[in-house]
Amino acid sequence: MARVYNFSAGPGVLPEAVLQQAQEEMLDWQGNGMSVMEMSHRGKEFMSIAAQAEADLRELMAIPKNYKVLFLQGGASSQFAMVPMNLLRGKTGADYINTGAWSKKAIAEANRYCQVNVVATTEESGFSTTPPQSALQLNAHAAYVHYVPNETIGGVEFPYIPESGDVPLVADMSSTILSRPVDVSKFALIYAGAQKNIGPAGLTVVIVRDDLVGKSIAATPTMFDYATHVDNGSMYNTPPTYIWYMAGLAFAHLKKNGGLAAMAEINQRKAAKLYAAIDKSDFYANPVTAESRSWMNVPFTLADASLDAVFLKKAFERGLMTLKRHRSVGGMRASIYNAMPESGVDALIELMADFETRYG
Ligand SMILES: *Cc1c(COP(=O)(O)O)cnc(C)c1O
Repeated sequence: MARVYNFSAGPGVLPEAVLQQAQEEMLDWQGNGMSVMEMSHRGKEFMSIAAQAEADLRELMAIPKNYKVLFLQGGASSQFAMVPMNLLRGKTGADYINTGAWSKKAIAEANRYCQVNVVATTEESGFSTTPPQSALQLNAHAAYVHYVPNETIGGVEFPYIPESGDVPLVADMSSTILSRPVDVSKFALIYAGAQKNIGPAGLTVVIVRDDLVGKSIAATPTMFDYATHVDNGSMYNTPPTYIWYMAGLAFAHLKKNGGLAAMAEINQRKAAKLYAAIDKSDFYANPVTAESRSWMNVPFTLADASLDAVFLKKAFERGLMTLKRHRSVGGMRASIYNAMPESGVDALIELMADFETRYG
């Protein structure tokens, strides 16, 4: 059976080399006679896997020493609550930038804990752009500023890191982490569900500046307190061991392939050629303003929406899968994460051209 090109927004495509290594090691990890899935998380074997994964992620992202790296469960969605619970620190309000569906979910959850000040929104544009720094009406007394650097559904990505002065900056990087180098020191906290651009679903990576840990609100559940996980090396309870291991394989794979600078070059090239194919045609369209187009999630529509089903069928026949966008919005979305080979993007562009010739 041949592997297809999987354009799913998440869980997304994984590097074939990573899947192969996991397969080779599945029954017997490095001569231990057992699968990583079967190991105690307290044993020296798994401890070494966990430590290596963290070291590799630290190296890839050049994470400064005063940041903790946590390997948690509960998805990015749990962070929508954990962030206010841990970062309010006696303050009553937090600033949120609203650029789409995931921003809105984060805002709705934070509203349960504090006064949310939406300091900029692009809703009136149909979430087709990002606000410039000059449009952010930041509050000096906010506990933190939260934003979503890449809105996975809208395909809208910030072309800059907001400047928040002394107010801690928090980013939901679920669908853009590891896509390029970022200056971690500009952030107080970064979180990301693993299933978009890291590994399988079931793991959430949190990178948090250490001075923000240990100040949670009184009723914070033990499992929702960053301090619990910092104090216990993310092993207060049983962590998602196998996913942690798989994430580690993905980190090692990235390191071997030139790290994030190399990924940035490839990702930019993949995205640029796909947007160029959309822009040069009158048949396909992407609504996002040029400077805010995502490198990772590329939504596009066909001039005649009644052809969507035919397009998806032709794509399926060529092994191009999961291009259908959520039915609430319609059209297509190609998620072209790190692990999507450039040949997959080329195959999609070829399909689009052939389809337009025939049906356009
Ligand atoms: C997918 C996604 C989420 C939700 O992640 P879960 O791990 O399913 O909770 C949150 N934010 C962004 C930007 C996402 O892409």
